[in-house]
Amino acid sequence: MTEILNGKILAEQLQEQMRREVEDLREINIHPGLAVILVGEDAASQVYVRNKERAAQKIGIHSLVLRLPATISQAELLTEIERLNADKNFHGILVQLPLPKHINEEVILDAIDPKKDVDGFHPMNLGNLFVGKKTMVPCTPAGIMEMLKSANIELAGKNAVIIGRSNIVGKPMAHLLLAENATVTITHSKTKNLAEVASQADILVVTIGRAAFVTKDFIKEGAVVVDVGINRREDGKLIGDVDYQAVAPLCSYITPVPGGVGPMTITMLMKQTIEAAKRMEQ
Ligand code: NAP
Repeated sequence: MTEILNGKILAEQLQEQMRREVEDLREINIHPGLAVILVGEDAASQVYVRNKERAAQKIGIHSLVLRLPATISQAELLTEIERLNADKNFHGILVQLPLPKHINEEVILDAIDPKKDVDGFHPMNLGNLFVGKKTMVPCTPAGIMEMLKSANIELAGKNAVIIGRSNIVGKPMAHLLLAENATVTITHSKTKNLAEVASQADILVVTIGRAAFVTKDFIKEGAVVVDVGINRREDGKLIGDVDYQAVAPLCSYITPVPGGVGPMTITMLMKQTIEAAKRMEQ
């Protein structure tokens, strides 16, 4: 029997726990704050930012969305980040990506105070993850680890294969799984015999951005399959990188799209904001 890893339900449970924690923190005068910077009018980014704002409100995290015009210069944006780095009301700062072409994303992400980098994208936090220090971790792989943990899925000694090597999902995912003693393989667009490599996986994480790319040829019977991809079909429906109908019957666990990894990503952002506030204020 395949079990569905329902990220929506888990996210709701965790957000409720966080709401209570934030209430308790208020008693000792700690008020977690999150600042989100949105540059320009990108439609998808506006939806993501609205969802983050909503989750923060629900949990009781004080949030600010700084909406800046697409014409803002890199220097002006850096000034805004410096201002937020120094602002004691905000423990987390997030810059919604992508940024307009004339702005260098790397320069902007590097300018965020690593202590406030709740997205976990700063090279210092990624470096800490690499050497195995407790640190802020990119939210999507952090959310996946929570899902695996909540289902008591054994990781030690298991073969984990990750398809996709992005800095925000694939690579940090590999380090988190390695830290739990999985044997990790990272694959990408140049990997030879990808389906064969994937079919060795006890845990398969797919983060490529190609609709229904992973078919049943990629799956070992009983594997745990985590689908990070979000792709919009022509009819408007959202689907993952995994051909869910064909693959699900072969798995022990699988994440759906939507309602799998997505809701956990935002939840981890809130969790890291609360943790940053506790570290800074206690
Ligand atoms: P990305 O930066 O878009 O990079 C895609 C990765 O997939 C690259 O490493 C690429 O390999 C690899 N790839 C592309 N085509 C491939 C192929 N045919 N075979 C094997 N590997 C292939 O990745 P991302 O940022 O991780 O995003 C991936 C997907 O996840 C997107 O759909 C995105 O919207 C979604 N996403 C969802 C969440 C969430 O919260 N649910 C969060 C983040 C991203 P190369 O490196 O060789 O080019």
